[in-house]
Amino acid sequence: MMVKSSDLQPPLKRVPPKWIPAYEAYIRIVERKVAVIAAWTLLVTVLFYQFTHELRLAHPTEMWLTELGFRIPVLLSALITLFSHYTGKPFIQSRQLLRIMGLSLMTMILALFLIHYSGPSAETYQVTNMMIISFFGVSAFSVRGPREWCLMFLIPLPVFFLSAKAMGLSIAELLPPMFDPFVMMIIGLVMSEALGQLRVGEFIARQRLKEHATTDQLTGLLNRRAMLQLLEREHSRAQRYGATYSLILGDLDWFKRVNDTYGHNVGDIVLQETARRLGSHMRTQDALCRWGGEEILILLPETDLDGARHVAEKARLSLAEKPMEVKEHSIPQTISLGITSCYGLDDIESTIKRADDALYLAKNNGRNRTEEIAPPNPEPALTEAEIIFDTAN
Ligand code: GH3
Ligand code: MG
Ligand code: MG
Repeated sequence: MMVKSSDLQPPLKRVPPKWIPAYEAYIRIVERKVAVIAAWTLLVTVLFYQFTHELRLAHPTEMWLTELGFRIPVLLSALITLFSHYTGKPFIQSRQLLRIMGLSLMTMILALFLIHYSGPSAETYQVTNMMIISFFGVSAFSVRGPREWCLMFLIPLPVFFLSAKAMGLSIAELLPPMFDPFVMMIIGLVMSEALGQLRVGEFIARQRLKEHATTDQLTGLLNRRAMLQLLEREHSRAQRYGATYSLILGDLDWFKRVNDTYGHNVGDIVLQETARRLGSHMRTQDALCRWGGEEILILLPETDLDGARHVAEKARLSLAEKPMEVKEHSIPQTISLGITSCYGLDDIESTIKRADDALYLAKNNGRNRTEEIAPPNPEPALTEAEIIFDTAN
Protein backbone atom coordinates (compact mmCIF):
# COMPACT_ATOMS: atom_id res chain seq x y z
CA MET A 1 0.00 0.00 0.00
CA MET A 2 1.31 3.45 -0.90
CA VAL A 3 1.59 5.92 1.98
CA LYS A 4 0.75 9.44 0.89
CA SER A 5 2.51 12.28 2.65
CA SER A 6 -0.92 13.59 3.71
CA ASP A 7 -1.47 10.33 5.61
CA LEU A 8 1.51 10.99 7.85
CA GLN A 9 0.45 12.94 10.87
CA PRO A 10 3.03 15.00 12.74
CA PRO A 11 4.04 13.60 16.12
CA LEU A 12 2.18 15.30 18.95
CA LYS A 13 3.92 16.22 22.20
CA ARG A 14 0.76 16.90 24.14
CA VAL A 15 -2.50 15.02 24.43
CA PRO A 16 -5.17 16.85 22.37
CA PRO A 17 -8.17 18.05 24.44
CA LYS A 18 -10.58 15.52 22.88
CA TRP A 19 -8.49 12.64 24.26
CA ILE A 20 -7.86 14.03 27.74
CA PRO A 21 -10.57 11.94 29.48
CA ALA A 22 -9.19 8.78 27.83
CA TYR A 23 -5.65 9.80 28.77
CA GLU A 24 -6.69 10.39 32.37
CA ALA A 25 -8.19 6.89 32.50
CA TYR A 26 -5.02 5.42 30.98
CA ILE A 27 -2.65 7.25 33.33
CA ARG A 28 -4.70 6.07 36.32
CA ILE A 29 -4.18 2.47 35.23
CA VAL A 30 -0.43 3.08 34.93
CA GLU A 31 -0.39 4.76 38.36
CA ARG A 32 -2.21 1.81 39.89
CA LYS A 33 0.31 -0.63 38.44
CA VAL A 34 3.28 1.49 39.54
CA ALA A 35 1.76 1.88 43.03
CA VAL A 36 1.39 -1.87 43.46
CA ILE A 37 4.93 -2.58 42.24
CA ALA A 38 6.29 0.21 44.47
CA ALA A 39 4.38 -1.07 47.49
CA TRP A 40 5.67 -4.64 47.12
CA THR A 41 9.22 -3.38 46.53
CA LEU A 42 9.13 -1.12 49.58
CA LEU A 43 7.59 -3.78 51.78
CA VAL A 44 10.20 -6.37 50.88
CA THR A 45 13.29 -4.14 50.85
CA VAL A 46 12.47 -2.15 53.98
CA LEU A 47 11.77 -5.33 55.96
CA PHE A 48 14.91 -6.89 54.47
CA TYR A 49 17.08 -4.00 55.64
CA GLN A 50 15.39 -3.92 59.03
CA PHE A 51 16.01 -7.57 59.80
CA THR A 52 19.27 -8.44 58.06
CA HIS A 53 21.48 -5.83 59.65
CA GLU A 54 23.57 -8.24 61.63
CA LEU A 55 23.88 -10.61 58.74
CA ARG A 56 24.99 -7.92 56.32
CA LEU A 57 27.26 -5.90 58.59
CA ALA A 58 28.31 -8.69 60.97
CA HIS A 59 27.65 -6.71 64.11
CA PRO A 60 24.58 -5.97 66.18
CA THR A 61 22.86 -2.67 65.48
CA GLU A 62 22.54 -0.20 68.30
CA MET A 63 19.63 1.57 66.68
CA TRP A 64 17.21 -1.02 65.36
CA LEU A 65 14.25 0.38 67.28
CA THR A 66 14.89 3.96 66.12
CA GLU A 67 15.30 2.69 62.57
CA LEU A 68 12.05 0.75 62.82
CA GLY A 69 10.31 3.93 63.97
CA PHE A 70 11.29 5.70 60.74
CA ARG A 71 10.50 2.65 58.65
CA ILE A 72 6.98 2.19 60.00
CA PRO A 73 5.35 4.98 57.90
CA VAL A 74 6.83 3.42 54.74
CA LEU A 75 5.64 -0.05 55.71
CA LEU A 76 2.21 1.27 56.62
CA SER A 77 1.76 3.24 53.42
CA ALA A 78 2.85 0.20 51.37
CA LEU A 79 0.41 -2.02 53.27
CA ILE A 80 -2.45 0.45 52.79
CA THR A 81 -1.66 0.61 49.07
CA LEU A 82 -1.74 -3.18 48.74
CA PHE A 83 -4.86 -3.49 50.86
CA SER A 84 -6.65 -0.82 48.85
CA HIS A 85 -5.58 -2.50 45.60
CA TYR A 86 -6.54 -6.07 46.47
CA THR A 87 -9.73 -5.40 48.43
CA GLY A 88 -10.88 -2.14 46.82
CA LYS A 89 -11.28 -0.66 50.30
CA PRO A 90 -10.61 2.01 51.23
CA PHE A 91 -10.69 3.49 47.75
CA ILE A 92 -7.76 5.87 47.48
CA GLN A 93 -6.50 7.20 44.15
CA SER A 94 -3.18 5.62 43.22
CA ARG A 95 -1.74 9.06 42.59
CA GLN A 96 -2.27 9.90 46.29
CA LEU A 97 -0.90 6.54 47.39
CA LEU A 98 2.23 7.09 45.31
CA ARG A 99 2.67 10.53 46.85
CA ILE A 100 2.30 9.16 50.37
CA MET A 101 4.71 6.28 49.72
CA GLY A 102 7.21 8.60 48.02
CA LEU A 103 7.10 11.17 50.82
CA SER A 104 7.41 8.56 53.56
CA LEU A 105 10.31 6.91 51.74
CA MET A 106 12.08 10.27 51.42
CA THR A 107 11.41 11.10 55.06
CA MET A 108 12.70 7.71 56.17
CA ILE A 109 15.91 7.78 54.19
CA LEU A 110 16.76 11.39 55.05
CA ALA A 111 16.02 10.80 58.75
CA LEU A 112 18.13 7.62 58.79
CA PHE A 113 20.94 9.54 57.16
CA LEU A 114 20.77 12.30 59.77
CA ILE A 115 20.73 10.01 62.79
CA HIS A 116 23.56 7.88 61.45
CA TYR A 117 25.62 10.84 60.28
CA SER A 118 25.31 12.78 63.51
CA GLY A 119 25.51 9.75 65.83
CA PRO A 120 28.16 7.25 66.72
CA SER A 121 27.29 4.98 63.81
CA ALA A 122 29.89 3.80 61.37
CA GLU A 123 27.29 3.00 58.73
CA THR A 124 26.81 6.34 57.08
CA TYR A 125 28.14 5.05 53.78
CA GLN A 126 25.53 2.28 53.90
CA VAL A 127 22.76 4.81 54.36
CA THR A 128 24.25 7.00 51.64
CA ASN A 129 24.07 4.06 49.26
CA MET A 130 20.45 3.51 50.21
CA MET A 131 19.81 7.20 49.66
CA ILE A 132 21.22 6.95 46.14
CA ILE A 133 18.85 4.09 45.35
CA SER A 134 15.89 5.83 46.97
CA PHE A 135 16.46 9.17 45.22
CA PHE A 136 16.43 7.36 41.91
CA GLY A 137 13.62 4.97 42.77
CA VAL A 138 11.26 7.62 44.06
CA SER A 139 11.47 9.39 40.69
CA ALA A 140 9.71 6.38 39.16
CA PHE A 141 6.71 7.14 41.38
CA SER A 142 6.03 10.37 39.47
CA VAL A 143 4.06 8.79 36.65
CA ARG A 144 2.70 12.17 35.50
CA GLY A 145 6.18 13.58 34.95
CA PRO A 146 8.27 16.24 36.70
CA ARG A 147 5.39 18.01 38.49
CA GLU A 148 4.84 15.05 40.79
CA TRP A 149 8.60 14.57 40.99
CA CYS A 150 9.05 18.08 42.43
CA LEU A 151 6.59 17.29 45.19
CA MET A 152 8.61 14.24 46.28
CA PHE A 153 11.77 16.31 46.67
CA LEU A 154 10.66 19.86 47.36
CA ILE A 155 8.87 19.07 50.60
CA PRO A 156 11.32 16.66 52.32
CA LEU A 157 14.60 18.29 51.30
CA PRO A 158 14.08 21.74 52.92
CA VAL A 159 12.86 19.97 56.08
CA PHE A 160 16.00 17.84 55.95
CA PHE A 161 18.36 20.82 55.72
CA LEU A 162 16.51 22.71 58.46
CA SER A 163 16.66 19.67 60.75
CA ALA A 164 20.37 19.22 59.98
CA LYS A 165 20.98 22.85 60.92
CA ALA A 166 18.97 22.43 64.11
CA MET A 167 21.12 19.41 64.94
CA GLY A 168 24.23 21.56 64.60
CA LEU A 169 25.41 20.14 61.26
CA SER A 170 26.71 22.56 58.67
CA ILE A 171 25.28 22.41 55.18
CA ALA A 172 28.78 22.54 53.66
CA GLU A 173 29.70 19.47 55.63
CA LEU A 174 26.65 17.60 54.34
CA LEU A 175 27.26 18.32 50.70
CA PRO A 176 30.00 15.73 49.94
CA PRO A 177 28.01 12.71 51.16
CA MET A 178 24.90 14.13 49.48
CA PHE A 179 26.65 14.60 46.14
CA ASP A 180 25.92 11.16 44.68
CA PRO A 181 22.29 11.07 45.86
CA PHE A 182 21.78 14.48 44.23
CA VAL A 183 23.25 13.24 40.96
CA MET A 184 20.82 10.33 41.12
CA MET A 185 18.00 12.75 41.85
CA ILE A 186 18.76 14.64 38.61
CA ILE A 187 19.05 11.39 36.65
CA GLY A 188 15.70 10.43 38.14
CA LEU A 189 14.21 13.73 36.95
CA VAL A 190 15.45 13.13 33.41
CA MET A 191 14.08 9.58 33.53
CA SER A 192 10.72 10.75 34.81
CA GLU A 193 10.45 13.33 32.00
CA ALA A 194 11.54 10.81 29.37
CA LEU A 195 9.08 8.19 30.62
CA GLY A 196 6.32 10.81 30.71
CA GLN A 197 7.00 11.72 27.06
CA LEU A 198 7.17 8.07 26.10
CA ARG A 199 3.80 7.43 27.69
CA VAL A 200 2.17 10.41 25.95
CA GLY A 201 3.66 9.35 22.60
CA GLU A 202 2.55 5.77 23.02
CA PHE A 203 -0.94 6.84 24.11
CA ILE A 204 -1.37 9.18 21.13
CA ALA A 205 -0.18 6.52 18.67
CA ARG A 206 -2.61 3.99 20.12
CA GLN A 207 -5.46 6.48 20.12
CA ARG A 208 -4.78 7.36 16.48
CA LEU A 209 -4.82 3.71 15.50
CA LYS A 210 -8.08 3.24 17.33
CA GLU A 211 -9.58 6.28 15.64
CA HIS A 212 -8.32 5.09 12.27
CA ALA A 213 -9.93 1.70 12.76
CA THR A 214 -13.31 3.11 13.75
CA THR A 215 -13.60 6.19 11.52
CA ASP A 216 -14.55 6.64 7.92
CA GLN A 217 -11.73 8.56 6.26
CA LEU A 218 -13.86 10.67 3.90
CA THR A 219 -16.56 11.89 6.26
CA GLY A 220 -14.95 11.46 9.69
CA LEU A 221 -18.08 9.57 10.78
CA LEU A 222 -17.93 6.21 12.54
CA ASN A 223 -17.49 3.35 10.09
CA ARG A 224 -19.77 0.36 9.73
CA ARG A 225 -17.64 -1.90 11.93
CA ALA A 226 -17.59 0.58 14.82
CA MET A 227 -21.35 1.04 14.48
CA LEU A 228 -21.96 -2.70 14.60
CA GLN A 229 -20.04 -2.88 17.87
CA LEU A 230 -22.09 -0.02 19.35
CA LEU A 231 -25.27 -1.68 18.10
CA GLU A 232 -24.38 -4.97 19.72
CA ARG A 233 -23.74 -3.24 23.02
CA GLU A 234 -26.98 -1.28 22.83
CA HIS A 235 -28.95 -4.33 21.76
CA SER A 236 -27.75 -6.44 24.68
CA ARG A 237 -28.58 -3.56 27.02
CA ALA A 238 -32.08 -3.48 25.53
CA GLN A 239 -32.41 -7.24 26.05
CA ARG A 240 -31.12 -7.16 29.61
CA TYR A 241 -32.84 -4.05 30.93
CA GLY A 242 -35.76 -3.73 28.54
CA ALA A 243 -34.44 -0.37 27.28
CA THR A 244 -35.64 0.91 23.92
CA TYR A 245 -33.35 2.19 21.21
CA SER A 246 -34.08 3.46 17.73
CA LEU A 247 -32.38 3.37 14.37
CA ILE A 248 -32.56 5.85 11.51
CA LEU A 249 -31.29 4.60 8.18
CA GLY A 250 -30.79 7.27 5.52
CA ASP A 251 -29.89 7.24 1.85
CA LEU A 252 -29.18 10.35 -0.24
CA ASP A 253 -31.70 10.95 -2.99
CA TRP A 254 -30.61 10.75 -6.63
CA PHE A 255 -26.99 10.86 -5.59
CA LYS A 256 -25.79 9.15 -8.76
CA ARG A 257 -26.90 12.23 -10.62
CA VAL A 258 -24.68 14.45 -8.47
CA ASN A 259 -21.68 12.33 -9.41
CA ASP A 260 -22.69 12.21 -13.05
CA THR A 261 -23.38 15.95 -13.31
CA TYR A 262 -20.60 17.47 -11.20
CA GLY A 263 -18.05 14.69 -10.89
CA HIS A 264 -17.02 12.33 -8.16
CA ASN A 265 -14.95 14.94 -6.29
CA VAL A 266 -17.95 17.19 -5.88
CA GLY A 267 -19.94 14.11 -4.81
CA ASP A 268 -17.36 13.52 -2.11
CA ILE A 269 -17.69 17.08 -0.82
CA VAL A 270 -21.49 16.70 -0.74
CA LEU A 271 -20.99 13.58 1.40
CA GLN A 272 -18.73 15.52 3.77
CA GLU A 273 -21.20 18.38 4.05
CA THR A 274 -24.00 15.86 4.65
CA ALA A 275 -22.02 14.35 7.52
CA ARG A 276 -21.39 17.81 8.96
CA ARG A 277 -25.04 18.88 8.81
CA LEU A 278 -26.39 15.63 10.23
CA GLY A 279 -23.75 15.57 12.95
CA SER A 280 -24.62 19.04 14.14
CA HIS A 281 -28.12 17.80 15.05
CA MET A 282 -27.04 14.82 17.11
CA ARG A 283 -26.99 14.55 20.90
CA THR A 284 -23.73 13.38 22.42
CA GLN A 285 -25.10 9.93 23.21
CA ASP A 286 -26.28 9.36 19.63
CA ALA A 287 -24.01 7.65 17.12
CA LEU A 288 -23.87 8.53 13.45
CA CYS A 289 -22.09 6.30 10.98
CA ARG A 290 -21.44 5.95 7.30
CA TRP A 291 -23.23 2.68 6.73
CA GLY A 292 -22.38 2.37 3.05
CA GLY A 293 -21.53 4.55 0.03
CA GLU A 294 -24.08 7.31 0.57
CA GLU A 295 -26.05 5.64 3.32
CA ILE A 296 -25.95 6.71 6.91
CA LEU A 297 -27.16 4.96 10.05
CA ILE A 298 -28.02 6.74 13.28
CA LEU A 299 -28.28 4.88 16.58
CA LEU A 300 -30.38 6.61 19.23
CA PRO A 301 -29.98 4.92 22.62
CA GLU A 302 -32.86 5.19 25.10
CA THR A 303 -35.14 6.61 22.40
CA ASP A 304 -38.56 5.41 21.26
CA LEU A 305 -40.17 5.83 17.85
CA ASP A 306 -41.61 9.27 18.70
CA GLY A 307 -38.19 10.54 19.71
CA ALA A 308 -36.60 9.01 16.63
CA ARG A 309 -39.18 10.65 14.34
CA HIS A 310 -38.29 13.99 15.85
CA VAL A 311 -34.54 13.50 15.29
CA ALA A 312 -35.07 12.14 11.77
CA GLU A 313 -37.14 15.14 10.74
CA LYS A 314 -34.50 17.53 12.02
CA ALA A 315 -31.85 15.56 10.14
CA ARG A 316 -33.89 15.54 6.94
CA LEU A 317 -34.56 19.27 7.14
CA SER A 318 -30.91 20.06 7.81
CA LEU A 319 -30.23 18.85 4.25
CA ALA A 320 -33.43 19.95 2.54
CA GLU A 321 -33.60 23.50 3.90
CA LYS A 322 -30.74 24.86 1.86
CA PRO A 323 -28.72 23.67 -1.11
CA MET A 324 -25.07 22.76 -0.72
CA GLU A 325 -22.59 25.25 -2.07
CA VAL A 326 -19.74 23.29 -3.60
CA LYS A 327 -17.22 25.20 -5.66
CA GLU A 328 -19.37 27.28 -8.04
CA HIS A 329 -22.32 24.88 -7.83
CA SER A 330 -25.43 25.14 -5.74
CA ILE A 331 -26.63 21.58 -5.26
CA PRO A 332 -29.98 20.76 -3.70
CA GLN A 333 -29.51 17.49 -1.88
CA THR A 334 -32.19 15.64 0.03
CA ILE A 335 -32.24 12.43 2.02
CA SER A 336 -34.83 9.70 2.59
CA LEU A 337 -35.01 8.15 6.03
CA GLY A 338 -36.40 4.96 7.48
CA ILE A 339 -36.86 4.60 11.22
CA THR A 340 -37.64 1.83 13.64
CA SER A 341 -37.21 1.00 17.32
CA CYS A 342 -36.19 -2.06 19.25
CA TYR A 343 -37.22 -3.29 22.71
CA GLY A 344 -34.70 -6.11 22.56
CA LEU A 345 -37.39 -8.65 21.65
CA ASP A 346 -35.97 -9.48 18.23
CA ASP A 347 -32.41 -9.58 16.89
CA ILE A 348 -30.17 -6.86 15.44
CA GLU A 349 -30.51 -8.12 11.87
CA SER A 350 -34.30 -7.89 11.88
CA THR A 351 -34.14 -4.43 13.47
CA ILE A 352 -31.84 -3.22 10.69
CA LYS A 353 -34.05 -4.93 8.13
CA ARG A 354 -37.08 -3.01 9.49
CA ALA A 355 -35.20 0.29 9.16
CA ASP A 356 -34.22 -0.71 5.62
CA ASP A 357 -37.84 -1.56 4.75
CA ALA A 358 -38.93 1.80 6.14
CA LEU A 359 -36.27 3.52 4.00
CA TYR A 360 -37.56 1.62 0.96
CA LEU A 361 -41.04 2.97 1.74
CA ALA A 362 -39.65 6.50 1.94
CA LYS A 363 -38.01 6.11 -1.47
CA ASN A 364 -41.19 4.64 -2.98
CA ASN A 365 -43.38 7.32 -1.45
CA GLY A 366 -41.49 10.10 -3.21
CA ARG A 367 -38.14 10.58 -1.39
CA ASN A 368 -37.10 13.49 0.89
CA ARG A 369 -39.28 12.01 3.58
CA THR A 370 -39.25 9.88 6.72
CA GLU A 371 -41.14 6.59 7.05
CA GLU A 372 -41.31 4.32 10.04
CA ILE A 373 -42.02 0.71 10.91
CA ALA A 374 -42.88 -0.03 14.53
CA PRO A 375 -41.19 -2.94 16.31
CA PRO A 376 -43.17 -6.06 17.21
CA ASN A 377 -45.30 -5.33 20.27
CA PRO A 378 -43.82 -6.26 23.63
CA GLU A 379 -45.82 -8.71 25.77
CA PRO A 380 -48.56 -6.68 27.47
CA ALA A 381 -47.69 -6.23 31.14
CA LEU A 382 -49.71 -8.42 33.53
CA THR A 383 -52.43 -6.66 35.47
CA GLU A 384 -52.35 -6.81 39.26
CA ALA A 385 -55.27 -9.29 39.27
CA GLU A 386 -53.44 -11.51 36.79
CA ILE A 387 -50.28 -11.46 38.93
CA ILE A 388 -52.29 -12.54 42.01
CA PHE A 389 -53.99 -15.26 39.96
CA ASP A 390 -50.62 -16.36 38.56
CA THR A 391 -48.89 -16.65 41.91
CA ALA A 392 -51.95 -18.34 43.49
CA ASN A 393 -51.59 -21.12 40.91
P1 GH3 B 1 -31.84 6.86 -4.78
O1 GH3 B 1 -32.58 8.12 -4.54
O2 GH3 B 1 -32.72 5.77 -5.27
O3 GH3 B 1 -31.03 6.43 -3.64
O4 GH3 B 1 -30.87 7.19 -5.99
P2 GH3 B 1 -29.31 7.18 -6.00
O5 GH3 B 1 -28.86 7.80 -7.26
O6 GH3 B 1 -28.80 7.80 -4.78
O7 GH3 B 1 -29.05 5.65 -6.05
P3 GH3 B 1 -28.11 4.82 -5.16
O8 GH3 B 1 -28.41 5.05 -3.74
O9 GH3 B 1 -28.22 3.40 -5.60
O10 GH3 B 1 -26.70 5.38 -5.60
C1 GH3 B 1 -25.60 5.41 -4.78
C2 GH3 B 1 -24.52 6.17 -5.48
O11 GH3 B 1 -23.63 6.73 -4.53
C3 GH3 B 1 -23.71 5.32 -6.37
C4 GH3 B 1 -22.29 5.69 -6.12
O12 GH3 B 1 -21.67 6.16 -7.27
C5 GH3 B 1 -22.38 6.83 -5.16
N1 GH3 B 1 -21.35 6.75 -4.16
C6 GH3 B 1 -21.17 5.78 -3.24
N2 GH3 B 1 -20.07 6.04 -2.49
C7 GH3 B 1 -19.55 7.22 -2.92
C8 GH3 B 1 -18.43 8.01 -2.55
O13 GH3 B 1 -17.66 7.69 -1.62
N3 GH3 B 1 -18.22 9.16 -3.21
C9 GH3 B 1 -19.02 9.55 -4.22
N4 GH3 B 1 -18.77 10.68 -4.81
N5 GH3 B 1 -20.08 8.81 -4.61
C10 GH3 B 1 -20.35 7.66 -3.97
MG1 MG C 1 -27.70 4.04 -1.86
MG1 MG D 1 -29.19 7.06 -2.89
